[in-house]
Amino acid sequence: MKDVVIIGGGTVGLWCAWHLHQAGRRVTIVDKGDFTDGCSFGNAGMIVPSHFIPMASPGIISKGIQWMFKKDSPFYIRPRFNLELAQWLWSFYRSSTKKHVAESVALLRDLHTESRELYRQLNQSTDFNFGFEQKGILMLFKSAAAEHDELEMAEAAHQLGIDAIHLTPEKLKQVEPGIQMDVRGAVHYPGDAHVTPHVFMRQMVNHLKQEGVEFLSGKEITGVHDHGQTGAEVSTADGDILQAQKIIVATGSWSGKLLKKTGYRLPMQDGKGYSMTLERPSLKPSIPSILHEARVAITPMGDDLRISGTLEISGMDDQVNPHKVNSILKAVPEYYPGMKIKDAGPVWFGYRPCTPDGMPYIGPLQSDSAVIMATGHAMMGLSLAPVTGRIVKDMLAGISSGHALNKTEPSRFR
Ligand SMILES: Cc1cc2nc3c(=O)[nH]c(=O)nc-3n(C[C@H](O)[C@H](O)[C@H](O)COP(=O)(O)OP(=O)(O)OC[C@H]3O[C@@H](n4cnc5c(N)ncnc54)[C@H](O)[C@@H]3O)c2cc1C
Repeated sequence: MKDVVIIGGGTVGLWCAWHLHQAGRRVTIVDKGDFTDGCSFGNAGMIVPSHFIPMASPGIISKGIQWMFKKDSPFYIRPRFNLELAQWLWSFYRSSTKKHVAESVALLRDLHTESRELYRQLNQSTDFNFGFEQKGILMLFKSAAAEHDELEMAEAAHQLGIDAIHLTPEKLKQVEPGIQMDVRGAVHYPGDAHVTPHVFMRQMVNHLKQEGVEFLSGKEITGVHDHGQTGAEVSTADGDILQAQKIIVATGSWSGKLLKKTGYRLPMQDGKGYSMTLERPSLKPSIPSILHEARVAITPMGDDLRISGTLEISGMDDQVNPHKVNSILKAVPEYYPGMKIKDAGPVWFGYRPCTPDGMPYIGPLQSDSAVIMATGHAMMGLSLAPVTGRIVKDMLAGISSGHALNKTEPSRFR
């Protein structure tokens, strides 16, 4: 029998492996892919204590409905008859309350902040240099309505003890000299940081392999069987059975489907997003930014620049929506007039694992379970992965995580 089997070698699975290995556990990571691509590779790389509001929040429903009818909007749900989607939307609607936000903000702030420090420490250690930088992020806005929203958010940040600095266009020039911006202003969150995600992933896989963590690639798990205190087992598509003391499910957007096969309800939708990475662009901001109206993220990564955006809930297909890609690229020179993009290179896409309330699933599948969920981090999976791994490690050791985790219980929609 194995000690710990982690299903899924994305950023969440790898960080769980890192913490568990450090704690002396014998870890096996199983993935249907080969640990070289996936949602954790092409994302915007932002570590975001500033993102303390969960995706399900008041106002998002009306905004989402307006966006849904615009071809080039940053958010899209493909209309279809699908019971799981209908149930997910209903739970999303019911979760989008002031009470839910009030109960989540401090936890999200603390989780992101702890993660940032874990990335910082790891980036300084041997084997790692994945471009961790704490320069903050700029929330750039062009309209009065967006300014109003951003200043309201900055005020909420202050109340939580998070630094948020309102910058006029003149002050922006001092913060980002040499980069022309056509905006009404910005809010700078200096506590945020960024990394180069694909470099982190490659270095983490190599490091864990050198440390003796077992990697099994090309193995799709088709069933998870929880035997409680005596352990658990997983079955693979090629007919193998792996038994373990503990199983960690870190399968990102596939988690709901995997658990459903085994009879557990874990509401989840996949939010497709795109990114393009410009190699050595002639103009490159040094501080990452989010273009408020367009919901596009701009992240400097070494010599390169990554541009990413959109959230499409359209089922898992391999189609690239040209309208969405064009609207991402079109937005860039509207905010940074000097950045004319002629060739954005190949389009990457990944699926954000979205729960109906915008909070991840971290914890046992049920009471006395040998199966621990570590998934559902939506647009914050890179940022929340290190702390998720630490919490999972403590759960396996029977130690309190130090956080009140009722908001992340996997059973909360049952
Ligand atoms: C455009 C875009 C920009 C983003 N920007 C940011 C950002 O700036 N900051 C941030 O924090 N987050 C960001 N995200 C979100 C972040 O990328 C995800 O939340 C995160 O990568 C999810 O990690 P994960 O490990 O849970 O899932 P994944 O990376 O999807 O990994 C899951 C793994 O499980 C494997 N798997 C699935 N099913 C099975 C099975 N049955 N058997 C075996 N293996 C299986 C898959 O092959 C995969 O390797 C962004 C996402 C997108 C799309």
